[in-house]
Amino acid sequence: MKFYSTNNPELRVDLKEAVIRSLPADNGLYMPESIAPLPDSFWENWRTMSFSELGYHVAKNFFQDAIPANDLKQIVDDSINFEAPLVALSETTHILELFHGPTLAFKDFGARFMARLMAYLTKDDTEELTVLVATSGDTGGAVASAFHNVAGTRVIILYPKGGVSDLQEKQLTTLGGNISALEVEGTFDDCQRMVKSCFLDADLAKKHNLTSANSINISRLLPQSFYYFHAARQLLDLHEGAEPTFVIPSGNFGNLTAGLIAVQMGLPVRQFVAATNINDVVPRYLADGKYEPVKSVATISNAMDVGAPSNFARMQDFFGNDWDSMRESVSGLAFSDDETRVAIKEVKDTLDYTIDPHGAIGWLASEAWLEAAPDSHTVILETAHPSKFIDTMEAELGAGNIDIPERLACLSELEKIATLVKPDPQEVIGYLG
Ligand SMILES: *Cc1c(COP(=O)(O)O)cnc(C)c1O
Repeated sequence: MKFYSTNNPELRVDLKEAVIRSLPADNGLYMPESIAPLPDSFWENWRTMSFSELGYHVAKNFFQDAIPANDLKQIVDDSINFEAPLVALSETTHILELFHGPTLAFKDFGARFMARLMAYLTKDDTEELTVLVATSGDTGGAVASAFHNVAGTRVIILYPKGGVSDLQEKQLTTLGGNISALEVEGTFDDCQRMVKSCFLDADLAKKHNLTSANSINISRLLPQSFYYFHAARQLLDLHEGAEPTFVIPSGNFGNLTAGLIAVQMGLPVRQFVAATNINDVVPRYLADGKYEPVKSVATISNAMDVGAPSNFARMQDFFGNDWDSMRESVSGLAFSDDETRVAIKEVKDTLDYTIDPHGAIGWLASEAWLEAAPDSHTVILETAHPSKFIDTMEAELGAGNIDIPERLACLSELEKIATLVKPDPQEVIGYLG
């Protein structure tokens, strides 16, 4: 299979180039040349397959013959070894829990798959691979966990000082070994810009064999499409014939783009609702057709504090750069921190469900959507476990009222190791050595 750049449809690269180089030299993003619809044989069986089997069939359809079937099966089985259950809050409202992986956020799907795919694609290479990744909170932890002790790789994580929660920070800074962290005196956008400028320096990228683990990397998105299928069939089990309206708490819009990939493969979806915090570049674009990236603003849903969403170029590409056609499939809604806080409390008090700040924004968007389209069945992507944002959660629900899973709780004892740097690409270059 081949990939082209969103900035140059004439350019064609193979899978290894797209995954390992991550970013075309023209500063576009890689897109698959075509995405085939799933065959009838898939739709005859998809409701009864295991989750990883479902993932394998979707991946096989996406990669076609670029990866031998047995290798691909292994990669998917090793990556998707935890569940994504759909929880009904009411007749109309459902939560897709995406936090059952090792680092308690949906990022585990993409990071685990990507780490295994990269290891597979570089198994015959001799040079070490350097994975550079900017994180607004959860990506770094997921990538660190996915690549920890993977031979032939080193991982450098950039995160905004003070911009991630304490436990998120521990996930990035305590593994040691082939994982190191740069604490940037700036915002997530600074981190993202620093990473991007390293990639655009072709000599540097070559010298260090740089690769990106951000959602600019197409291999992170594909495994996220698996759970759209999985959610849709769980919804069908509850409401035969229902087409899901996916409500997606969004930052860099990788998750939403993965949903668009699922639709291209033939998944029936009624609507996508992009839910953001006050970093609402995309909802504003959907409202008035003007795309105006801005500096990101810090919020309590920090993983969505993105002022220049990296996957927007892919979304536009999917819709042929046509605003009207994007608006038909994707709606946008934005909410403030105050509204988010009220929602966390309300969901607990009225539905007895503990929802994290990102999911709470999804819930607000779902409520607004259902008011306008009451016959919808919404599926809110719950993107992280509430314990990752313990301070915000306890402020609303009271101290001691949030369960912290053991795999997170044990981190608080570990010592943080990070290098403080200025928001300047030169700092990363210097660190690379
Ligand atoms: C990364 C993240 C998001 C945003 O996802 P995108 O794919 O970047 O839109 C939302 N919520 C949580 C908890 C995240 O970690």
